Amino acid sequence: MPTYDYRCPRDGVFPLRFPIGEAAPAVRCATCAGEAVRVFAPPMLSALSRALVAALDRTGRSAEAPEVVTRIPGRADGSHPVNSGRMVRRPVHPGQARLPRPD
Ligand SMILES: [Zn+2]
Repeated sequence: MPTYDYRCPRDGVFPLRFPIGEAAPAVRCATCAGEAVRVFAPPMLSALSRALVAALDRTGRSAEAPEVVTRIPGRADGSHPVNSGRMVRRPVHPGQARLPRPD
């Protein structure tokens, strides 16, 4: 049986064995009985940045349980620069603002 990693927010990562395809998305931590979620990143990634590990976790979750998008991602209030009629145009690179403008 393969080993799957689960992460408890209090006690850290611990391994559990499940038959292939039957790993639960979340289990009870054996130490504190809190919820521990499955970690999709392979072992030895603890040296990576938190942002990268979070992205890898999200990628793994997305494969099994994709998040459903109900509106165009944008501002917190749900409005979008395109939909609201005023486009926000930012330079691609900060140095672009210093370039000469065409006549
Ligand atoms: Zn725990």
